[in-house]
Amino acid sequence: MQNPTLIHLFEQVKSRNPYETEFHHAVEEVLSSLEPLFEIEPKWLENGVIERLVEPERFIHFRVSWVDDRAVVRVNRGFRVQFNSALGPYKGGLRFHPSVRPSIIKFLGFEQCFKNALTGLPMGGGKGGSDFDPKGKSDGEIMRFCQAFMSELYRHIGSDIDVPAGDMGVGAREIGYLYGMYKKLSNVHAQGVLTGKSVHYGGSLVRTQATGYGLVYFVENMLKDKGEDFKGKRVIVSGSGNVAIYAMEKAQELGAVVIACSDSNGTIVDEKGLDLAMIKEIKEVRRDRIQSYCEVYPHASYIADPKALYEFACDIALPCATQGEIQIEQAQSLVEKGCRFVAEGANMPSSLNAIQYFLDQGVYFGPAKAANAGGVATSGLEMSQNSLRLQWSFEEVDQHLHAIMDDIYAQAKQTAILYKDPDNLVMGSNIASFKRLAEAMLAQGVI
Ligand code: NDP
Repeated sequence: MQNPTLIHLFEQVKSRNPYETEFHHAVEEVLSSLEPLFEIEPKWLENGVIERLVEPERFIHFRVSWVDDRAVVRVNRGFRVQFNSALGPYKGGLRFHPSVRPSIIKFLGFEQCFKNALTGLPMGGGKGGSDFDPKGKSDGEIMRFCQAFMSELYRHIGSDIDVPAGDMGVGAREIGYLYGMYKKLSNVHAQGVLTGKSVHYGGSLVRTQATGYGLVYFVENMLKDKGEDFKGKRVIVSGSGNVAIYAMEKAQELGAVVIACSDSNGTIVDEKGLDLAMIKEIKEVRRDRIQSYCEVYPHASYIADPKALYEFACDIALPCATQGEIQIEQAQSLVEKGCRFVAEGANMPSSLNAIQYFLDQGVYFGPAKAANAGGVATSGLEMSQNSLRLQWSFEEVDQHLHAIMDDIYAQAKQTAILYKDPDNLVMGSNIASFKRLAEAMLAQGVI
């Protein structure tokens, strides 16, 4: 960062939010890439726009008490950040993971504001979650936890106020329990209050697949710009959760060979191409560890280290697990092994110096807020269907999703060209989303 006003603002963010390193990272990435905009149009530094953007409108922190299967009382922390409502009701997922703390929720909420702006849909930015660890919990424990969580959250949300969805550890099952409790407490069957619902009571077709499919549609655009496509490309995908599984599915459908994926314990590699039906069976049905893939396919190998994924030769890497998984070492390894395209399915998987390294080395890089916006975009489409009291077909939603991802790519690319760094999609997507958000904030006065 060179601009003295921005340096000062960033120092303020650090001192007002001490020890919140993930939040600092997210703010630094955005502010530093906005510099070319401020050079040409310094007006954006006025009216406290940046000062307001980096301060959440509201941060809610609550106790979640519940009883486990052994009748022991357990206490977790619940959070919801309502970051920015300039573009619409707060919108963003809930994450249940032991690593959840204010810094994580704030970085995710901050990112969400820009991501939602890129979709072109009327959604503000929010995020929430708990340090609850769903691993090893029975179905009854998950249900009781979700009910306890909603018994506080329900008073802060609503279809025109704040619309949570899933994220890590929160899928259709958890959304179902949360929705049931919301309905009971509020006595309102307001389908638009949560997205990621089952299709049986107001969910949208394609929502399950949306983030992964959307990521691949985004990468399709990146490849097309370089005169290439997915056919025959070697792809590695980190994680084996919701985003990873459907990114692998769409990449395979488009002719790629997905050779490796991971979970938080380790990496599996199958040079013949992974059998996705088996991965779905292991992770979605049995809720087991990815290692068990090798019991069925002995020719595949397992390495008890999730970061080993980045040591395999590939053309395209899709980090779809969690924040901080690509540090400079993993970035260097990917480049050495010939990787030429990286696109983020997870939120903030790459460190700032890893991103800079990719840009310097000519790796075409798709940043999270653009590349993984398909999930929230389809949540926006779910809200539209709930308001209309209609359900669109799979093909219809998929077409909308595809068009939105093409548009996000076009916005990022055209803005990058305009600001004279044509392959810098980080800058392109940050400037494009900032302008939409800032225009809306300025139009609504100082609030
Ligand atoms: P899930 O909980 O469905 O899956 C997460 C996956 O990542 C699991 O396979 C998990 O393994 C694995 N994992 C966790 N930590 C590590 C690690 N350190 N190394 C390797 N693998 C790891 O979450 P989602 O797929 O929903 O979300 C993944 C990422 O995508 C998150 O960053 C999320 O914020 C982001 N995202 C999700 C969206 C959505 O619609 N779901 C939308 C936009 C972004 P294990 O089973 O061992 O825990």
